[in-house]
Amino acid sequence: MNASGSPRVALIGWPVEHSLSPAMHNAAFKALGLDWRYELFPVPPGQLGAAVADLRAGEYGGANVTVPHKSAVMAYLEDIDDAARAIGAVNTIVVRGTRLAGYNTDGPGFLRALREAGLEPSGRRALVLGAGGAARAVVYALAQAGCAVAIYNRTVARAAELARNLKSLGLGGAVSAVPGEAALRALDLAPFDLLVNATPAGMWPNCDDSPWPDGLVLPSHWSVFDLVYNPLETRLLREARQAGARAIDGLGMLVWQGALAFELWTGQAPPVGLMRAAAVEALSIGR
Ligand code: NAP
Repeated sequence: MNASGSPRVALIGWPVEHSLSPAMHNAAFKALGLDWRYELFPVPPGQLGAAVADLRAGEYGGANVTVPHKSAVMAYLEDIDDAARAIGAVNTIVVRGTRLAGYNTDGPGFLRALREAGLEPSGRRALVLGAGGAARAVVYALAQAGCAVAIYNRTVARAAELARNLKSLGLGGAVSAVPGEAALRALDLAPFDLLVNATPAGMWPNCDDSPWPDGLVLPSHWSVFDLVYNPLETRLLREARQAGARAIDGLGMLVWQGALAFELWTGQAPPVGLMRAAAVEALSIGR
């Protein structure tokens, strides 16, 4: 609660100033008549402990956590939900009295966006690019939903480690790693039907970048889901469309991970359509 008694929600990260989350959440609080306020809380590396102590001071109802603190923050929380622990990252904190509880809404948010696009993960074969925090959440969510996943990452050892970790959890879908670019180029792509970019390649201002190897043809039967949402049409999605594949941008996941966090903080059904409109508007203003 702040001086006027309204709960605050903090976005803890570094940097945070380009985030669309304040626009999305403050529009949702207002629409539901909630006297809550979502604020940026820039926290440089090394100052996370003091920031989490602030969350306990009584003014906050919760927080989002973003790069680079999603894993490190776990050491400061009393309770961590099973999926967040398995993923090794927390993006949402709920303040319950003196206890802080950590959740990860990235994986469920990704699945909601995927299903909203009409794609049921069960029985599919996905190729996921990246092995960072977002990739971990996506691979966990897909495998748990019964999708077989192969992980390709620029740093091969990180993909192998992620595959090993998630395989040991015995999730529904098989998890494997592609051992380098030569192996990716040699891979039979026909049995796959979903490509997910969970790297920042192609994100503004580096819009000419792509995580997909040059010259490797994207099969036309694929759906390509890019977690990047700025710009909405990345080079990867443009090339996917040109190849005849289905292209899905990262906005739906952004909105759903936020909507699920909103529900955890307030206990109320999130106004998802309104949150999406607020995010799109903030994105257009930010350009
Ligand atoms: P992260 O933990 O820093 O991981 C980044 C991953 O991308 C690493 O595997 C890294 O490979 C790889 N990578 C970085 N730059 C690359 C490049 N130029 N080419 C190829 N691979 C590259 O980041 P993160 O938190 O996972 O986030 C990844 C992306 O997902 C970001 O763009 C973020 O904005 C987006 N995201 C979107 C949503 C959403 O709601 N739509 C939610 C979460 C994240 P190395 O291991 O080789 O370094």
